[in-house]
Amino acid sequence: MNKLSVRDLDVKGKRILIRTDFNVPLDKKGEIIDIIRITSSIPTIKNVIDRGGRAILISHLGRAKGEVIEGLRMNKVAEKLEVALGKKIKKLNDCIGTSVEMSVAGMKDGDVILLENVRFYNEEEDNDPEFAQKLAKLCDYYVNDAFSVSHRAHASVVGVTKFVSKAAAGLLMEKEIKYLGQAVQNPKRPFLVILGGSKVSDKIEIFKHLLHKVDTFLIGGGMAYTFLKSQGILTGDSLVEKDKLDVANEILENVKKNHSKIILPVDHIIADEFSKTANSRVQDEKSIPDGWRGMDIGPKTIELFKKEIEKANTILWNGPVGVYELPQFKNGTIALAKLLAESKATTIIGGGDSAAAIHDSNVEDKITHISTGGGASLEFLEGKSLPGIEALSDIEGRKIFIAGNWKMNTLQKDARILINGIKEKTDGFKNIDIAFIPPYTHLFLMQDILKDSNIKFGAQNMYFEEKGAYTGEISPLMLKDLGCTYVIIGHSERRKYFNENDELLNKKIKSALKHGLFPIYCVGETQEERDKNLHQKVVEKQLINGLTGITSDEIKKITIAYEPVWAIGTGKNATPEQAEEMHKFIRNRISVIYDEEISSNVRIQYGGSVTSENVADILKQENIDGALVGGASLKIDTFSDLLKIANNL
Ligand code: PEP
Repeated sequence: MNKLSVRDLDVKGKRILIRTDFNVPLDKKGEIIDIIRITSSIPTIKNVIDRGGRAILISHLGRAKGEVIEGLRMNKVAEKLEVALGKKIKKLNDCIGTSVEMSVAGMKDGDVILLENVRFYNEEEDNDPEFAQKLAKLCDYYVNDAFSVSHRAHASVVGVTKFVSKAAAGLLMEKEIKYLGQAVQNPKRPFLVILGGSKVSDKIEIFKHLLHKVDTFLIGGGMAYTFLKSQGILTGDSLVEKDKLDVANEILENVKKNHSKIILPVDHIIADEFSKTANSRVQDEKSIPDGWRGMDIGPKTIELFKKEIEKANTILWNGPVGVYELPQFKNGTIALAKLLAESKATTIIGGGDSAAAIHDSNVEDKITHISTGGGASLEFLEGKSLPGIEALSDIEGRKIFIAGNWKMNTLQKDARILINGIKEKTDGFKNIDIAFIPPYTHLFLMQDILKDSNIKFGAQNMYFEEKGAYTGEISPLMLKDLGCTYVIIGHSERRKYFNENDELLNKKIKSALKHGLFPIYCVGETQEERDKNLHQKVVEKQLINGLTGITSDEIKKITIAYEPVWAIGTGKNATPEQAEEMHKFIRNRISVIYDEEISSNVRIQYGGSVTSENVADILKQENIDGALVGGASLKIDTFSDLLKIANNL
């Protein structure tokens, strides 16, 4: 996801407007029947308040159509929310205006306010800019956690984002995008898609969008009869979309051309009328006689589907395979729910009735992801962009990061001149991140001289323990105490002269992260290893070992530095093409260990005889995001020239 996440927001002391989906089902007396939408929003709310943010929640409930309807006030939601959150919240009787603004102004860190039903205003559905601006006025940042309404360009979903400095995705929203988006776009194969529901016309776009990615389609529900009929098979009185027979035929042809499979029911449960008291029986073949209609898939079809489910590694299911609202025809759908629960695959459910079958079978916790969005998930699976997601702030691209590693050089007086000189010459460089990595002995000086500067600093090494009898070592706590941001881990000189191995480096990385330091993890091969064509193998091993147990959130804080050992301090640098080839390889490995989105955001520096002469060509490479500079960082003019070139790129 290239959108900002609530996790990226610095929420401490800030007012965060969170668009939730509290459109809960109500019974005739106005009591809440199901609280899943309320409990699904808890992780995002907690993420904000546990970090000292002030959460202001806004949602719609029912179809108020611009009128205040007493039965659609958010009071009942507030009661359930308090229980789910385990915390007192304040429910207001409006969602804009002076009294709301005053209540918000009185909030303390960690407080939660629930605003009144936003659809009491027509301006919400009209996406009225003035109304959106009034909502935006309540907050510092906006978070959208209501995936299920993100296909609607409403004021609390889209309009408001125009008037806030940052609009981020909530955790539920992120989960929906992860599974309906990434897992489906880049599935682990075999990829099986089960489509049901009554009409082919509702699913045409999904077929078109997913055709080239899917290995096998299983078709059930009413739409199966249109497919069967398009093949000349008798379907009796079953629901058939006569005007979609050509489309169904075309889909079958395209699936064949694409070398994927589509499996239609081979037997059915049929009934003599569409009612819960209908006479019904198993029809042991594909065709259905006149006077009868298909209502559910039969036992042979379930067996056939079971075999495919067992083979799959990713399964997406949308739509019931029988008439789910009539109890005697829900067996096929329930059987599928159970089969999915037993499957080893990543299982993703989109659509109300398939989700209901999962709930009715009590297997929610065995399913990877059950989408909360009906219309929104359909549009997403059709490959459409949802206005509510589009409107969120983009993540900044990978910013160039240049770090100067002074190694074991400079005395205090040289260090002072060097820091001050470079600081003066690079003042106002906004396009790059800069860090000095001096010997430990100058860290105090750095802290003093760089206190008001954008330039950060760090250490060349650390031990993984916090304190104790480790004579000669420096701990992450000590580095933090001196204001360090970064720490180099696994520089080739430490691997070579101090026998540091990947196992030790992995411990150091974990400890640095635990204490809030950003590791610069060095990898790279020797000349001998390159000559033997082992360079990629060596780097891959260093990556896998060094990053063992590092989570997806933690990897975002690590900079990888590719430093071919043969190029360090030798004046013999890798060509930009050689460096790019390895950087691309590293990014690819990271996408395998984590995923593509994470790998596209991880910064990878190049290091090895970088100078002001070659830095431009190196940084122009697509996968190179900066440089770890040794020798050239020790001279004011050379390093500041190099930084200037990088800043102007
Ligand atoms: C380094 O020390 O990490 C380095 C790359 O050194 P140099 O730029 O001198 O090759």
